[in-house]
Amino acid sequence: MSGLTVHAGHNHRGDLDLETDVLVVGSGASGAVVARTMAEAGFRVLVLEEGPYIPALTHGAFRPSESLRYAWRGGGMTVAFGLGDTPAINVTMGRVVGGSSVLTGGVCFRIPGHILHTWRKERGLTEFTEERLEPYYAEVEKNLHVEEVPASMRSRSTQLFCEGCSKSGFEAKPMRRNTDGCNGCGRCNFGCPEAAKMSVDISYLPQAAAHGAEIWSDCLVERVTMRGDRAVGVEGRVLNGPAGKPGGKLVVRARRVVLAAGAAHTPLLLHRSFVSGVSGQVGKNVTVHPSFRVIARFKESVQGWKGSLQSAYVDAFEAEKLTFTSLFIPTSVLAATMPGVGPAHTEKARDVSRLAIFGGLIHDEGGGRIWQNPFGREPILTYRMDKRDRASIPRLIRIMGKAFFAAGAEEIFMPILGAEGVTKDAFESFPLEDVKAPFIECSSQHPLGSCRMGKTREHSVVDTFGKVWDTRELYVADGGIVPTSLGVNPQISIMTLATHVAHNLRETKLLG
Ligand SMILES: Cc1cc2nc3c(=O)[nH]c(=O)nc-3n(C[C@H](O)[C@H](O)[C@H](O)COP(=O)(O)OP(=O)(O)OC[C@H]3O[C@@H](n4cnc5c(N)ncnc54)[C@H](O)[C@@H]3O)c2cc1C
Ligand code: SF4
Repeated sequence: MSGLTVHAGHNHRGDLDLETDVLVVGSGASGAVVARTMAEAGFRVLVLEEGPYIPALTHGAFRPSESLRYAWRGGGMTVAFGLGDTPAINVTMGRVVGGSSVLTGGVCFRIPGHILHTWRKERGLTEFTEERLEPYYAEVEKNLHVEEVPASMRSRSTQLFCEGCSKSGFEAKPMRRNTDGCNGCGRCNFGCPEAAKMSVDISYLPQAAAHGAEIWSDCLVERVTMRGDRAVGVEGRVLNGPAGKPGGKLVVRARRVVLAAGAAHTPLLLHRSFVSGVSGQVGKNVTVHPSFRVIARFKESVQGWKGSLQSAYVDAFEAEKLTFTSLFIPTSVLAATMPGVGPAHTEKARDVSRLAIFGGLIHDEGGGRIWQNPFGREPILTYRMDKRDRASIPRLIRIMGKAFFAAGAEEIFMPILGAEGVTKDAFESFPLEDVKAPFIECSSQHPLGSCRMGKTREHSVVDTFGKVWDTRELYVADGGIVPTSLGVNPQISIMTLATHVAHNLRETKLLG
């Protein structure tokens, strides 16, 4: 593993005044790609990250509660408020050097062919063909060491679901993940004890730093400084005040600014910089891949924590816009999610070693919006679920429940707040369509689309090279530019599009 030198903003005293050629805001999946590409090409590169730097092996030794506290935004409690018949959605994000890439399960999917087809056909994004993207995919997958998870590393939890799939008439497929030396301890979301998950803090960022990029943690960017239509730097605060609160003033002069603060935060920066464009699309069109998990209790010992965290997926229901992926939750967190209180809960929590889990997500239409928060720094997220997506929730739960019962589950726990486990008979007659939205447990790790790219300034925020319409030297490279929901986990897609953006930036001369 290559080391990474990060300037810790919280150790810096007073104000911070810096200058660079290319300034990257956000050190996550997309920002790291841009930083590495530009540094390698010989540009002076500076990366500013709001979160702290936690070396991979330090993070890998954290308890889940410590990881949530130090590496997850809002302690993992960030929520999109459901509008209308929509559940509240726990939308999680990283706030740490390496961004959300540090928290992934390592799942790697390319942009599905049918999605690229829609982009070309309905949005005129003709350059996005599999052939044109191939070199970018190849670059990303090589740097992240994307590999197929061997069947031998599947946890018993995943094996049981896969057996249930086969008995139900469809097959699970092997997953690809960005790992090198994974030993299958199953706790990727809370830090990898082996530093085997190739998140950008141990892949792209050290490569960027080796080519001279300077990386600062604990630096909160508040706005882009504009001179007319040209971005000339940023302003913000160094988080060197008491308890990591804003302290010194942060001023950076730059010849080019690339926003990579993630789909939830880049729109805020654009709004605060008064760069909202004619389209009025900044912060709109957000998709989140609403996700749901089903837990099953078996008679046998499952010990689902032994094995690769995510090793199989099911795309047999793609036509219905549903994708299923294996997962597991650390035992301490899993025990806490079991229903009941007091002795009833203790009884359920004792069963943790007999539990299996699988997850499903909806390739959604996008009813999300990022709003400026008049009372604080964090954005407000709202999400109104499309009617068809809402109607898919019972179907998604039924598919997972059926597969688990086909594999011999005694009882399953649906993602319904307060609901007890149900047996096969009770499940088959359960009125899932009648469950009201506020009782449905829904999560998301994939906000996308808030600054979507497009061919015209009337319908998009950035052009197909990430340049903010009608500005100079201001670009967006993060998940916000993805024009539609993908139906699969997005890190590789985001990094591939960021590579496309970065290659163009590499060839584009800086303004004098
Ligand atoms: C728990 C979890 C599990 C996931 N698992 C997978 C998976 O297995 N496979 C997959 O494909 N995808 C997964 N994802 C999604 C994937 O990690 C993200 O889609 C991807 O990292 C987004 O890249 P990004 O560059 O847009 O944003 P991020 O990687 O989130 O980076 C944005 C960075 O910008 C920083 N920032 C924000 N605002 C500011 C500011 N004002 N000033 C300075 N810095 C700022 C943030 O702190 C953050 O570090 C997961 C996400 C989570 C949260
Ligand atoms: S399962 Fe593999 S990648 Fe995940 S935390 Fe364990 S060793 Fe790391």
